[in-house]
Amino acid sequence: MIQAVVGANWGDEGKGKITDMLSKEADIIVRFQGGANAGHTIINDYGKFALHTLPSGVFYEHTTSVIGNGVALNIPMLFKEIKELIDRAVPMPNILVSDRAQMVMPYHILFDEYEEERLDGNSFGSTKSGIAPFYSDKYAKIGFQVAELFNEELLREKLERVVLQKNVLLEHLYHKPALKVEELFGTMMEYKSMIEPYVCDVSSFLWRAMQDGKNILLEGQLGSLKDPDHGIYPMVTSSSTLAAYGAIGAGIPPYEIKKIVTVVKAYSSAVGAGVFVSEIFGDEADELRRRGGDGGEYGATTGRPRRMGWFDCVASKYGCRIQGTTDVAFTVLDVLGYLEEIPVCVGYAIDGKVTTDFPTTGLLEKAKPVFEVLPGWQCDIRGISKYKDLPENCRNYIEFIEERIGFPVTMISNGPERNNIIYR
Ligand code: GDP
Repeated sequence: MIQAVVGANWGDEGKGKITDMLSKEADIIVRFQGGANAGHTIINDYGKFALHTLPSGVFYEHTTSVIGNGVALNIPMLFKEIKELIDRAVPMPNILVSDRAQMVMPYHILFDEYEEERLDGNSFGSTKSGIAPFYSDKYAKIGFQVAELFNEELLREKLERVVLQKNVLLEHLYHKPALKVEELFGTMMEYKSMIEPYVCDVSSFLWRAMQDGKNILLEGQLGSLKDPDHGIYPMVTSSSTLAAYGAIGAGIPPYEIKKIVTVVKAYSSAVGAGVFVSEIFGDEADELRRRGGDGGEYGATTGRPRRMGWFDCVASKYGCRIQGTTDVAFTVLDVLGYLEEIPVCVGYAIDGKVTTDFPTTGLLEKAKPVFEVLPGWQCDIRGISKYKDLPENCRNYIEFIEERIGFPVTMISNGPERNNIIYR
């Protein structure tokens, strides 16, 4: 069986925790998109970890962790992450890397930095991991697949062609030092010796695994609203964050994805620029940020304080629908226990009309949140393991949201640890 774990919102919904938890029953966990630009935070018996490239299943000895063709593969980052695990007594995970995955080149990171510098105040709030330049090159057909490392002559020729083009931009647009082919070639050869033991034809591997009845879990990064097609373009990421893309980014038949677990956070948070209708500010936001997640809402990759907001039914209904949700995992609910009353955004007022349909960016910029206020439960719900044992107001909050978003909440996460979960 293949299932996907994806986000409904702006990312940071707690997908890492849900993937880590579901990995117990999985044989193979696949990352199918994105790169080291976002992080998943995981807390388990080995401690607290921030993963950026590795799938969140690396903590189990029975699983194989796969980097699919759709990922932006940063080889030094991957090895840094593996080393961090080993240094903290996690057994060496079984890792496979697609021969069709493309590599983040050192210049992608430079271009990301230079472009943010050039845009200055109008930047996209990039994490400067090279993701946008990487995917631009992939679709401009000047990217480098892992398999290309194994033909040195062709690799050198292609590097010469690509460097010629990059150097024009570096000199005339960014006024920065030029790239040197020999230096890059040397780096590529280092990448080759690092990655060689893990390279594999991933789509064949997964095909065989499906025939053998293995459980496969696809792990998404970020969330629906950061999808380049269906999100808040242009304040989006550069690869599709949707479960449907799992078929492409892993190389499996789309009809094999039977279960789509969409992770929905009990309040809103976002990083980077872009419209955020239910955003809150000042002391109200500071308090939620401080109490949020596990130890505060700060970026797992950048440490940046996240923007905070109340739950947004409009964005989450859309976020779930566009993922093709079969199950909602409702997370970080315990954090809201301090509130006497909890506002929930139930509609957007745009030009005097209220809608519950998520609009395109131009209209979204005009949207004003319509809030309904629900009573809080004002107690700590961590440690509760049965739905019926949750306080009534807490169940009402879940059921209110479930009805508005229109997809079944089958899991409720009431704490950062593996066992803080309520099945419904
Ligand atoms: P991801 O990118 O979707 O994996 O999300 P992040 O890892 O960036 O953010 C989720 C944060 O919330 C992490 O610090 C998790 O440890 C934490 N977390 C996940 N689920 C829960 C939960 O149910 N309750 C609390 N308090 N924290 C949670």
